[in-house]
Amino acid sequence: MTTFQSLGLEEHLLQAINDLGFETPSEVQEKTIPILLEQETDIVSLAQTGTGKTAAFGFPMLQKIDVNSRTTQGLILSPTRELCLQITSELKLYGKYLNGLNVVAIYGGASISEQARQIKKGAQIIVATPGRMKDMIGRNMIDISKIEYCVLDEADEMLNMGFYEDITDILSHSPKDKSTWLFSATMPKEVATIAKKFMHQPLEVTVGSKNVGADTVTHEYFLVNARDRYQALKRLADANPDIFSVVFCRTKRDTQKVAEMLIEDGYNAAALHGDLSQNQRDLVMKSFRTRQIQMLVATDVAARGIDVDDITHVINYQLPDEIETYTHRSGRTGRAGKTGVSMVIVSKSEQRKIKQIEKIIQKSFIKKEVPSGIEICERQLFHLANNIKDTEINHEIDIYLPKINEVLEGFSKEELIKKVFSVEFTRFYNYYKKAKDLNVEGGKDTSGEDFSKKYSEDSTRYFINLGRKDGLQWMDLKDLIREITDLGKDDVFHVDTMETFSFFNTDSAHIDKVLEAFKGVQFNDRNVDIEISKDKGGRNRGGGKGGNRGKGKGHRKGGGGKRGKFNDDRPKFKGKSRRKESRPKEKGTGGKRRRRM
Ligand code: ADP
Ligand code: MG
Repeated sequence: MTTFQSLGLEEHLLQAINDLGFETPSEVQEKTIPILLEQETDIVSLAQTGTGKTAAFGFPMLQKIDVNSRTTQGLILSPTRELCLQITSELKLYGKYLNGLNVVAIYGGASISEQARQIKKGAQIIVATPGRMKDMIGRNMIDISKIEYCVLDEADEMLNMGFYEDITDILSHSPKDKSTWLFSATMPKEVATIAKKFMHQPLEVTVGSKNVGADTVTHEYFLVNARDRYQALKRLADANPDIFSVVFCRTKRDTQKVAEMLIEDGYNAAALHGDLSQNQRDLVMKSFRTRQIQMLVATDVAARGIDVDDITHVINYQLPDEIETYTHRSGRTGRAGKTGVSMVIVSKSEQRKIKQIEKIIQKSFIKKEVPSGIEICERQLFHLANNIKDTEINHEIDIYLPKINEVLEGFSKEELIKKVFSVEFTRFYNYYKKAKDLNVEGGKDTSGEDFSKKYSEDSTRYFINLGRKDGLQWMDLKDLIREITDLGKDDVFHVDTMETFSFFNTDSAHIDKVLEAFKGVQFNDRNVDIEISKDKGGRNRGGGKGGNRGKGKGHRKGGGGKRGKFNDDRPKFKGKSRRKESRPKEKGTGGKRRRRM
């Protein structure tokens, strides 16, 4: 078995490693560290998130720099402030026996002059986000002309976030003969390009196969109607009482909205997205790390900085636009050798994406059923039983025991157990006893419509002022229309999305229902206009060419819907009670905070 010692690390590092409790090197460490210690070379090292890449470049860098010099010798570029801070604190831990070591983090959203002051004191290693780094080089606050090592950490993420230009600019201020170490979870062609442009004959280390998700993650999907997405999310949470999860949404608005709904329903949830101030984001992350938050609802960009181990579930509330992003999402769980589950809630029209993801991750999804109400009640019950069993007795209650015993005098053990469990069980039972089955039967892929079906001759074509610009493909729009009108799968057809508007058909019998349902509905803060189009419309005929666009004020109903303050992305229902199961609130606690059971 390989040991850290056999990799060639010096005594002070071994000591620190011992303090950290790392027993054996991870695969990427085992493969990368000896190369970097022995040779001055460029390297591309590919390994999943959570496999210990920080130490893979951190140990060699710490061993190679000269702490007696105050010159900046190593630069680490990383995509987010959170990662920057994380790497900095890890390096400080690794180098705790290196007297004189100064590692400085450089990132946006904090005082630039304070950072400049720290650099001035002499930082052998700088860990930076590209934006702030470029800024400080431009202001002559940082000199990287003598660096020997440059790490591009999470290179794929940095490129995803549009840092290519900044990186090019930064590196133009660094010496040509430095060594560049590139670390990445995936190797899209952009990363290959960067390797070509900035590196000289890099060695390549690959752990696992490229682009493949960690083996410790199980992938599951749940097929539901688009309108049941949120209910399904709640059930998944309720069926896993100890859940510690990141819930991914596609947009900031959905992120905010889902988080607010969860909080309102009594879950320990919070939103993490780019519209929050840095301060708010820090607070959210702190609560998440300390487990006060069990469900962190996040956008992909905001979640890039999340480096929290022990996440039990990643929930894809919506799939990402870029299928490749799924790997990053699921990589948030199953870290550091633990196991995790990545769950996807899909509607029928998105089901085909599961196949595409399977190709990328080279693993199969397990199709799971959304748990039924009774199943959830059962799980909560046994969870409670186990909790009671494992609870350490708090002797602070001793003084109250005589009084408590008095109250409960006369009950047998059996009766007491029944009563204790009824307290919790009734709450869930009442909530779930009439809950419907959320599963969509059959696994048929309906992404291609059955056009052979004879639609009623008497159909009506509608114009709607939503289109691809709103991020809607025809399947999405169809889902949305069905969600708002409550019409069946075959009742909405010939959906044609244009850039800024679209058309669709329903049987003429549904005209009133459709027009009524859309009254006061908003999407992306815009009133949704819907009109009957003169064009009867077959598929691909589009028609109208905008002739109807933006005219009809007829159905406009100003003002937001019920959830107006949330600024949400999905239709708001006005004057119509929203189908909403609300979660059982806890008696006597005001019901806001979810008690951990
Ligand atoms: P990556 O950069 O590949 O996503 P990190 O470097 O952030 O992964 O490491 C993930 C976690 O694993 C961290 O908490 C780190 O302290 C821990 N870790 C790293 N190397 C080892 C090891 N050899 N043994 C045990 N834990 C490790
Ligand atoms: Mg990392």
